Amino acid sequence: MCGHASGVTPPRFSRRRMLQALAGGVGGVLLAGAAGLPRAARAEMTSETLGLSQGGIPVSVFWVGSGARAVVVQGAFHGGPEINTSYLAFRLRDYFAANPDQIPAGLRLGFIPEANPDGIALDSRQYLSGVDPNRNWDTPDWQSDAYDSNGVLRRGLGGPYPMSEPETRWLAEWLLALRPEAVVQYHSRGGFVLGSRELGERYSAASGYVLPPARPPGQQGTGLLPYRATGSLGRWLGLQGIPSVFVELSNYSDPEFSRNLAGLLAVLRALV
Ligand SMILES: [Zn+2]
Repeated sequence: MCGHASGVTPPRFSRRRMLQALAGGVGGVLLAGAAGLPRAARAEMTSETLGLSQGGIPVSVFWVGSGARAVVVQGAFHGGPEINTSYLAFRLRDYFAANPDQIPAGLRLGFIPEANPDGIALDSRQYLSGVDPNRNWDTPDWQSDAYDSNGVLRRGLGGPYPMSEPETRWLAEWLLALRPEAVVQYHSRGGFVLGSRELGERYSAASGYVLPPARPPGQQGTGLLPYRATGSLGRWLGLQGIPSVFVELSNYSDPEFSRNLAGLLAVLRALV
């Protein structure tokens, strides 16, 4: 990554340039080195393809920062209906690319703003197969028939067997190889935070999203969701010993950038 060159005054961003940068970022365009943007204060951004969706669309992770320990930020797992979580992940990516000094030493951030591109293209919560990305993970509570985000029990929503979907398998393989310090997942809409206790508390305190009270060990459910989310990524991450934070934005349209930036920064600072 490139920091400030010594002896060079860090460039100031005009409001117009920042808006241009944000507008470009939402479309998935890499910002580093974009025409007209000063380079010296920006972090280098790299990207890699995690795998292909069932519809053949590559799913990318964008890396900002160069620390040895990774934090993963994921948006739009539930596709088009939760598109504000994709906008949020892009905006967070672009914020940290423009402000690399906000990334605590030793960390690097991997943003997956379009975790379910088929669902974005088709305005669906599910994969092309009709399986829900967040009901397909190999957990003790996995079941083939599962509740959707509206609390309706749907046949086969969890897949024919755990990890049946190619996207689930390559994401799992990648996460197990990476072993991130934390995974922050964005969903909408609920206006609350779940996840690993300490990180969830930090996120909640900084963002203002409600954190439900702790449950006794072995008891699941949040009391906030009116249905059981079986076979979830968060549960699977917990079984692998990978901390996670699950954030439900409070509506379907606004990325609620400022409060989520505050929440994410609180989590990052808790990890160092
Ligand atoms: Zn969701």
